[in-house]
Amino acid sequence: MNTATTPTWRNWARTESAAPTRVTSPADSAAVVREVLAARERRGRVKMVGSGHSFTGIAVAEDTHLRPDGLTGVFSVDREAMTVTVAAGTPLHELNARLAGLGLSLHNMGDIDAQTVAGATSTGTHGTGGVVASLAAQIEGFEMVTGTGEVLRASSTENPDVFAAGRVGLGALGVLTSITFRVEPLFALEAHERPMSWDEALSSYDEMVATHHHVDMYWFPHTDRMMTKTNDRLADLGDAEPLPRWRGWLDDELLSNTVFGALTAAANQAPRVIPRLNRFSAVALSERRYSDVAHRVFTTPRTVRFKEMEYAVPREVGLDVLREVRREVDASEWRVSFPVEIRTAPADDITLSTASARDSLYLAFHVHAGADHRAYFSGVEQVLRAAGGRPHWGKMHTLAASDLASVYPRWDEFAALRDRLDPDRVLTNDHLERVLR
Ligand SMILES: Cc1cc2nc3c(=O)[nH]c(=O)nc-3n(C[C@H](O)[C@H](O)[C@H](O)COP(=O)(O)OP(=O)(O)OC[C@H]3O[C@@H](n4cnc5c(N)ncnc54)[C@H](O)[C@@H]3O)c2cc1C
Repeated sequence: MNTATTPTWRNWARTESAAPTRVTSPADSAAVVREVLAARERRGRVKMVGSGHSFTGIAVAEDTHLRPDGLTGVFSVDREAMTVTVAAGTPLHELNARLAGLGLSLHNMGDIDAQTVAGATSTGTHGTGGVVASLAAQIEGFEMVTGTGEVLRASSTENPDVFAAGRVGLGALGVLTSITFRVEPLFALEAHERPMSWDEALSSYDEMVATHHHVDMYWFPHTDRMMTKTNDRLADLGDAEPLPRWRGWLDDELLSNTVFGALTAAANQAPRVIPRLNRFSAVALSERRYSDVAHRVFTTPRTVRFKEMEYAVPREVGLDVLREVRREVDASEWRVSFPVEIRTAPADDITLSTASARDSLYLAFHVHAGADHRAYFSGVEQVLRAAGGRPHWGKMHTLAASDLASVYPRWDEFAALRDRLDPDRVLTNDHLERVLR
């Protein structure tokens, strides 16, 4: 175990920081147990942190900070059950590479692969479409150290109540040490990106979602333009036609990240030009098709730093909520340089998943890291809340426990389990006290 003293920690978006009293990298569950028991004994707190990609203070370790880097790697592969068990601190990009080497893949994932598996699942990180959209809904089982220092294993047949809640546990129920994911034979996806008008995109959205495996859509505020991306499985992995390296670099790194980063940073200084810039960006993005191994199509590098709020609203009212959001943006003085991202998820069975027991439409709002997000986010948040929206657990929002309890029918179940697994609140922090009480 490596032990260091009081470095200062910052999250990816630079919205949160911490100066923990102790930083250590446990290498197994016994080491995690020792940390939890020691903190409990002195009435302190422990937090396992992932890669710091949450925009909120959910990952702020106020006392003992457990780093994920001692808990990485693939523990076992069960080809009959089609499951893979990995250490909880494994970064997603490492998991994807290892799985690809084994001829295996996850079913679905979000836009990036920098997060740890435990950090990503604990906040309900999701992609779009598919049979399941979130990483947590692909979990078959896990091992965790509870706030009383007990090592628990959970699956649908072993401690099923812990399994129901612990897949999106917010780090509040225990420190995950390993996760078993359901996997599939490696597959390739064909991506088709194309610009559309607002009306065309909204009128064809339900049909797109019904006919494609994954649909992702971006609306450019202050314009009538949408960018749609559909991903469909290829019958044969060998049919994949990746973009040439230079084209991938030009499109994704240079145009999408570098030029976009410079434009949005400049727009911060001169918000009046944003509507014109958005029209330019929307027109500059052209239609393209490419195919590749699934994880390389799902994820892209994100080098432009931003702040984000995302809500899940019921799927059946989702497009009306998006229309209402547009009316708010059009009627406001806000100048929004980042596109609004629109994704879907089928209902799942996880206690506090944003898609718990309801099909969902996700609406995600971004501003440049240096911009003031408050007027835009709080204006849009009112629309999302009025629709019964549930905020992403790792992204910015202003709700407190009492607000959240009203949109989660199984809230009390989670609260009772937390009282049982972490009665002395060894695993809490200020953010969790706000959102869970
Ligand atoms: C550029 C960018 C792109 C993103 N794209 C998406 C996307 O496409 N879809 C989406 O849904 N989200 C997305 N997110 C949000 C991100 O996936 C989540 O915030 C995720 O939680 C970050 O994972 P992490 O490893 O950085 O965890 P952290 O942010 O470090 O931690 C998150 C929570 O997990 C807990 N945790 C970490 N490890 C453990 C453990 N071993 N046991 C128990 N709890 C633990 C922490 O204590 C904390 O409560 C994005 C974020 C960024 C910055």
